[in-house]
Amino acid sequence: MIKLTPIGGIGEIGMNMFAFEYGGHVMFIDCGVLFPPFQYLGVEAIVTDYETLLDKYKKIDAIFITHGHEDHIGGLPYLFQQDKPKVYATPYAAEVIKLRVNNVLGSKFKTDVTEVKYETPIKEGPFNIEYIQVDHSIPDASALFITIKGLRILYVTDFRFSGKNKSAFLSKIQEIKRKGEIDLLLSDSTNADNVDESISEQAVLENLDKYFSKAKGRIVTTLFSSNISRVNQLIVLCKKHGKSLFVAGTNLKAHIAIAKRLGYLENDKGCIKPDSELAHTAKSKTVFLCTGSQAERNSSIMKLSNGIHPQLKIENGDLIIFSSSRIPGNEKLIMEAINKLAERGAQIIYSDDVHCSGHANIDELRALIQEVKPRYFLPIHGEYLHLKSHVDIAVSEGVPRENCFIPKNGDHLTYEGKTFSYATTVEKPGRLYVDSMTRELIDSSILKERAICAERGLFSVVLVPSSKNSGKLFVRPRIFTKGVSQSLSMKGLISGIEKKIGEFIRQNNKHRKLNDMKDDIKQLVKREVRRRYDDKPDVAVLIVDSD
Ligand SMILES: [Zn+2]
Ligand SMILES: [Zn+2]
Repeated sequence: MIKLTPIGGIGEIGMNMFAFEYGGHVMFIDCGVLFPPFQYLGVEAIVTDYETLLDKYKKIDAIFITHGHEDHIGGLPYLFQQDKPKVYATPYAAEVIKLRVNNVLGSKFKTDVTEVKYETPIKEGPFNIEYIQVDHSIPDASALFITIKGLRILYVTDFRFSGKNKSAFLSKIQEIKRKGEIDLLLSDSTNADNVDESISEQAVLENLDKYFSKAKGRIVTTLFSSNISRVNQLIVLCKKHGKSLFVAGTNLKAHIAIAKRLGYLENDKGCIKPDSELAHTAKSKTVFLCTGSQAERNSSIMKLSNGIHPQLKIENGDLIIFSSSRIPGNEKLIMEAINKLAERGAQIIYSDDVHCSGHANIDELRALIQEVKPRYFLPIHGEYLHLKSHVDIAVSEGVPRENCFIPKNGDHLTYEGKTFSYATTVEKPGRLYVDSMTRELIDSSILKERAICAERGLFSVVLVPSSKNSGKLFVRPRIFTKGVSQSLSMKGLISGIEKKIGEFIRQNNKHRKLNDMKDDIKQLVKREVRRRYDDKPDVAVLIVDSD
């Protein structure tokens, strides 16, 4: 029996990971993070609870990485803290993985990634994998053709079916089909419910060219760090218009260095200039490339919008181009940044004509299904609505509805006797949160505490015992608050609670130490606040020695 289990990436955009099991062997595809929809509660990213996952899947034969985007590789450093299974990736993804692991685990951590060559099949245990190059918004993105004991699967995550790799991908599909039918297609659902036409890379270049021709002052462009094809377009335009390109931010610089090393970067012919020349370059000749297209905290765009960027101050006459799509959920933050930049005098371009999606549109999804003609279909990489719309497309292209699945993360598909069947499970993959201060993993109980503090504030009860381990107080109890209304009625409530805590301690201190009364005092405070406001804050009880 062959078992397929999505660990993440179903019903969400992010945390992509998929398990395949056969005869005691396991392989995974991708190991990504999910970015929280808002930058809140000090959480940088959400990852799978790998410790529990590895307890379940004892022997991992290998992890196959499709491409270097964070939602496909970002979990690897946290997995590596538990175990170091064999990881396969194409050269660009391998470099990005090393960069990511260094950022999280430090440069001393040795990352082993086996680099994959297209057209060279890989065998790990019962799994045969072939990488197929596809078009996407990062170099070296791949679909995977997987065979397991006669089961033939095409796994096509993030892809376009319209770029320069399309004809080679098409020929590959034909070659696979000449040897037998494709049992299961898994395909990218990101744009499956998006009826808008997605423009081509060439149209983006032409539109950017128009803005470059019109711009009288500086041009600031923001994009995803890994979007090397867009960087290449900007290099082409800088050369054409005789402008100098300045690159801000370590991540963007790192991606450009990787692209250059691997031969993916357009020959800039000296138009990329060192930071030191920025101050001496005429405004009409300056193009400033930076991150922050999603208004990420600490990104260059946020610093520019707040007037605290060390290299550049936005002023009248600057043109700022947001050359990337807006990830759903980030729109409000992006608009806040855009408004602040406009207030500083910049003209902002954030329309759909200066970027294009890296994901297939409905026509391309339909075309892929027409070519593959799979027996079974499983939509991946999308929220529920995307997955459902993608199934509708597959059904309209002739895949029987009963052969289409939308599992939940953790559910299984089993394959036996040429047939798939579906089994739901209560045992869902666990999740942990990457703390944005320490970069360590925290669990949901800490988030719950943060949420209560953030919403209702914190009451700290400070008790000073008359001597160590005593139940008596040296001074009366005091309450200090954080994030709590300073109204007179609140002050009155607090002094009343302080008195009640004192009475409670006096009534109990003959047989109990202060330390043993902590929980009761916490409850007392919550009860008293709730009595007045119908809500309760977080409470901490601190016992401080008087000496
Ligand atoms: Zn991607
Ligand atoms: Zn993705």
